Amino acid sequence: MTQPIEVRNPRTGMPDYRFTPPTERELDTLATRLREGQRDWAAADAAHRGQVLQDWAARIEARRDDLAAALEADTGRRRLARLEIDGAIASIRGWASRAAALMPRSDWVEGRANPAIRHAGQYLPYPLVGVISPWNFPLTLSLIDAIPALAAGCAVLVKPSEVTPRFAEPLSATIGEVAGLAGVLALAPGVGETGQGVIARADLVCFTGSVATGRKVAAQAARRLIPAFLELGGKDPLIVTKTAPVEAAVTAALRGSVLSTGQACQSIERIYVAREIHDAFLERLTDEARKVRINWPDIASGEIGPIIFEAQAETIRRQLEDAVKKGAEVLTGGTVERHGGGLWLKPTVLTNVDHSMAIMTEETFGPVLPVMAFETEDEAVALANDTEFGLSAGVFAGTLKEAEVIARRLQTGAVSLNDAALTAVFYEAEKQAFKASGLGPSRMGDAGLTRFLRRKALIANTGAPAPLSAFAEEAGS
Ligand code: NDP
Repeated sequence: MTQPIEVRNPRTGMPDYRFTPPTERELDTLATRLREGQRDWAAADAAHRGQVLQDWAARIEARRDDLAAALEADTGRRRLARLEIDGAIASIRGWASRAAALMPRSDWVEGRANPAIRHAGQYLPYPLVGVISPWNFPLTLSLIDAIPALAAGCAVLVKPSEVTPRFAEPLSATIGEVAGLAGVLALAPGVGETGQGVIARADLVCFTGSVATGRKVAAQAARRLIPAFLELGGKDPLIVTKTAPVEAAVTAALRGSVLSTGQACQSIERIYVAREIHDAFLERLTDEARKVRINWPDIASGEIGPIIFEAQAETIRRQLEDAVKKGAEVLTGGTVERHGGGLWLKPTVLTNVDHSMAIMTEETFGPVLPVMAFETEDEAVALANDTEFGLSAGVFAGTLKEAEVIARRLQTGAVSLNDAALTAVFYEAEKQAFKASGLGPSRMGDAGLTRFLRRKALIANTGAPAPLSAFAEEAGS
């Protein structure tokens, strides 16, 4: 029997929800049911699956208020909760309408080396995909892999984070309302051990979370020899060149860093500014950062919500202390504030920072903007690439051409040009996570769906089979 988990509300600091993670036996039952359901799901054509997914989008729309209330309690924010729901609906509709066109053709093709031998492809979905998601965008990151996997013909078992599990109930209700969907999609809110249970039963695991847990997931998947698609942390840099318009660059830097209280993998976490405009940039950034309001006491006003996961506040505090001890100066923000039991951090601008400080090298996951001056483009590129991470980056310059030259030198999976954190809003471009930021094919673009298909080759000989004697030592020189 597993123990009930009490869940803390990020606005009050008090537990206001409880759930019981599934037992091993319950996970077994779920996995067996999903595997059985997947056979018919995969055998049906993509158009049928698309229709079921469209029905699901309609059910989510109908239950939008229930889902929004749960997500709001999970994350302590209102507008982003609603945007997550709108994004999920759009994503379901998008994949549903394109799934049929994305399924690869399986025509027979004549061989190049020997035209008598032809081949055709068969594309088979992984039967059961396990999805393990984090707490920062609970709905988005539970569905970002699940939707294309379903569209490709897989069954999916999702394990949301124990920090933000409330949305699972209303979302599961929508799944139950769609004929044919509950047989291939289930949510199993649980703890880390539940995640391990999912990996133990899946044929492929899609994991979004920290590098530390990602390593454990990869090791467990390796022991089972199943693929692990990992989307992990980042320490995204923004380079601002001397030709950049200061006002626009500050707008991008601030939004890219503090949206969702910096609790986003693609948040800008360090800013390198050309010496020529450094002081003007820093002054404006500090002014603009001071204007940002927390959404307390009224959830319906302000730009940033609470720190969702209590332990994250400790990480941020530790990094800030380390930076200040080593000589950093806090220009605004800098103190984790407690209001009504919840924890908030106002945008925090730091100067006098360098790479000896954790704030410049470790993932912060908070609204912190450390700014460092650079003298040359080579120095800026070297600083941006001086990291174990390689998720994404930004370059702001006077022209797109100038930004592009620098962007092409950065060792990251994506670069936003003359803006920041565009991967949060633009899903069409394929990208992979570099270095410790992840592993596996692109979850964006068309590959987002085709990565769930295994390639099988049918190879047909239209002529006579070659006899063994054709390979005898004396048969040729
Ligand atoms: P964690 O790595 O702590 O947790 C992620 C998920 O893994 C949770 O559901 C967690 O469960 C589960 N889990 C914990 N231990 C195990 C285990 N041994 N085996 C399997 N699953 C396990 O990440 P956070 O929730 O703290 O999320 C924040 C991190 O996610 C940041 O590093 C952020 O950068 C990253 N992230 C990456 C994104 C990307 O696209 N690259 C997008 C968004 C976030 P439980 O919570 O119940 O312990």
